[in-house]
Amino acid sequence: MREWECINCGYIHEGNEPPEECPECGASRDLFTEYAIPGEVWSNFGGEEEIKEWECINCGYIHVSDKPPKECPECGASGDQFEEFIYSEEWDDA
Ligand SMILES: [Zn+2]
Ligand SMILES: [Zn+2]
Repeated sequence: MREWECINCGYIHEGNEPPEECPECGASRDLFTEYAIPGEVWSNFGGEEEIKEWECINCGYIHVSDKPPKECPECGASGDQFEEFIYSEEWDDA
């Protein structure tokens, strides 16, 4: 989603394109300028990679990433031999 700011009145429009005209002041589309979202906000959105742990059900190797590996570096098992490793008990204690 992009945001557009009416340079005449400051109205913010959300959408892929600026509106035909400003609903607040009637300014035409060419008075809208793309409203730049500060870089930090974007990096917070994109930077949160979900790190999971995957266990090879064949040899018990633990792989830490957002997705299982193509194959196990220990025993050569394929990626579908990996199951997500979940710490359920630790959550219950807290
Ligand atoms: Zn306006
Ligand atoms: Zn393995």
